Amino acid sequence: MKAAVVRSFGQPLVIEERPDPEPGPGQVRIRVEASGLCHTDIHAAHGDWPVKPNPPFIPGHEGVGIVEALGDGVTHLAVGQRVAVPWLGWACGRCEHCLSGWETLCEQQQNTGYSVDGGYAEKMLAPADFAAPVPDGIDPRDAAPLTCAGVTTYKALKVAGVRPTQLVAISGVGGLGHLAVQYAKIAGATVAAIDVTDDKLELARELGADILIDARTEDPAEVLKQHGGAHAAIALAVNEQAFASVYGGLRRGGKLVMVALPAGGTIQVPIFGTVLNGTSVIGSIVGTRQDLDEVFQLHAAGRTKVIYETRPLDSVNESIAEVLKGQIKARIVFEM
Ligand code: NAD
Ligand code: ZN
Ligand code: ZN
Repeated sequence: MKAAVVRSFGQPLVIEERPDPEPGPGQVRIRVEASGLCHTDIHAAHGDWPVKPNPPFIPGHEGVGIVEALGDGVTHLAVGQRVAVPWLGWACGRCEHCLSGWETLCEQQQNTGYSVDGGYAEKMLAPADFAAPVPDGIDPRDAAPLTCAGVTTYKALKVAGVRPTQLVAISGVGGLGHLAVQYAKIAGATVAAIDVTDDKLELARELGADILIDARTEDPAEVLKQHGGAHAAIALAVNEQAFASVYGGLRRGGKLVMVALPAGGTIQVPIFGTVLNGTSVIGSIVGTRQDLDEVFQLHAAGRTKVIYETRPLDSVNESIAEVLKGQIKARIVFEM
């Protein structure tokens, strides 16, 4: 099988020919049809974060494809079935977090395309219990971005507890943000979309955003305050200044939900204002298997639209460069 491999941090990925992996007990082998390029894969390839993967590894946690081989003991999936393999590659199922509906916080979790090989390949393995069935009728190229960008932003809006009549700021309308705008509209909110490129702001408008804020020329905090302040801000831009600027645009009782992971990012949270205003600052990491199932249900019902451009896996390095330049409309999906 062909795979795109990170051999060392900060170096171009290498296209390699590898033997097809054999599924162990409880695993399935998947023939990958489509695989999304999440900005997290770029952080992984650059070694941006304190907890690092171990090169060589195959990135990708938006892999979607057809089950083609079952390991021992797999009974609930069948050969020929379409599944998606998200970032949450495995969790223990026994700890406090797993048992309380927060498997995304499991300390023993494995992460696809990070601690175990991922979806930038023609074939991949996954624990059958964490390979999410994709409903019939969903195109695999739509399913791929939903598998991380979708579930992550759907969960972030759940965490924010967004209600109709509220103002929600979506900071960064990239792969994650273009779906966040739609989930916020589904929740009934008024949406302020913030970005730094004309194309992304135009896309946000097409997807239903009510207020557009160009962070190159406007101060998002000021514009949000002119609208009474945001009840929630979802920080999706890979830029730490963007976190501070939406924090400043919250109304009293507002929530900043931190999702993007700029390398070495920190924000200054003023104690006085946070206390007096009853502000919440919350981290949100991907979503559970149940959240992903709900994301697929919404898409199967025609309530979301996934915007992507397809590329061959061979173009992985050029594709990463395009994402970093902000030239992609929302998501790149590799077609295998
Ligand atoms: P992306 O590159 O597709 O989108 C980022 C967007 O931010 C782009 O549209 C860009 O134009 C915009 N932007 C850049 N600077 C900005 C600024 N100053 N103000 C407003 N917008 C700005 O990236 P993505 O795939 O959507 O991922 C976003 C981040 O989320 C990454 O750091 C990624 O690692 C992280 N992520 C986190 C989780 C999680 O579970 N917490 C899951 C997936 C991705
Ligand atoms: Zn991701
Ligand atoms: Zn656990």
